[in-house]
Amino acid sequence: MQKYLYITLLLALAMACGSGTKKSNVEGPRILTVTIEPQRYFLDQIVGDMFTINTLVPPGTSPETYEPAPSVMVDMAKSNVYFMVGDLGFENVWSKRLAKNNPNVTIINCSEGIVRMEGHDHDHDHGHDLHHTHLHSHSGIDPHVWSSPYAVKVFTRNMLNEIVKIDPDNAGTYEANYEILLAKIEKTDSLIRDLLKNVSSKSFIIYHPALGYFARDYGLNQISIEFEGKSPSPSQIKEIVDVARKEKINTIFIERSFDTKNTTVIAHEIGAQVFEIDPLRYEWDVELLRIATILAREVK
Ligand SMILES: [Zn+2]
Repeated sequence: MQKYLYITLLLALAMACGSGTKKSNVEGPRILTVTIEPQRYFLDQIVGDMFTINTLVPPGTSPETYEPAPSVMVDMAKSNVYFMVGDLGFENVWSKRLAKNNPNVTIINCSEGIVRMEGHDHDHDHGHDLHHTHLHSHSGIDPHVWSSPYAVKVFTRNMLNEIVKIDPDNAGTYEANYEILLAKIEKTDSLIRDLLKNVSSKSFIIYHPALGYFARDYGLNQISIEFEGKSPSPSQIKEIVDVARKEKINTIFIERSFDTKNTTVIAHEIGAQVFEIDPLRYEWDVELLRIATILAREVK
């Protein structure tokens, strides 16, 4: 019995020591807020269970119709850091609000340092009405940087730098975790590169243009059905069909919860296959590899 007590005591002591090494400069609840699930995936790899991570756009929610509840701002205000993707119209509105009401929350633009692409399809004319905010850029910049492994290296480095800044006592752990994440990103990149070596068509069609940076990385051409965030006109559909025939496009991507009517019409017209993808999926690497596998399916 005494021996048992002694072991319990030792265990308690070991646990106390263990938590001692996790001492940090972060005060209060250790909460990080991100906009989308792939960001939570990256942060999970870097911080492990050292922080709680909140995602603003819940899984399975279309960012196009996302309507934040009033409680979201309350939760955001409890965070140590809010990691923005960077160029999403919705984020600009919310980060300004957050900065004004809660100057103690650090706001980090994860896209800082990434060479951004023009997003001709992202110039929306709707206003900043919060009940109808669109997740996309109002500045004409394509916000979907996370579809590129290259960009994600910079993106996650920005995350790491801030985590190390707010919790320097555990910097070694975060940096070691980051090295593992980097290796995973590089592995994903080389697997995609291998898969795409012999694709039969360098072009693909997508309803919503979420893969611009992916296309840039791998020398592909993204053609979007959606035009300036809206359904295409009959003449625009005809234009897409003509290009698709010329370039022998056999793949059409569509994100969950987008209107499939025009997609089906075009697919039927050009004899292409439609695949549902989820660029907002938590398992970032799995989804990118899936997309590459779909594009490469004709290859023997
Ligand atoms: Zn999008």
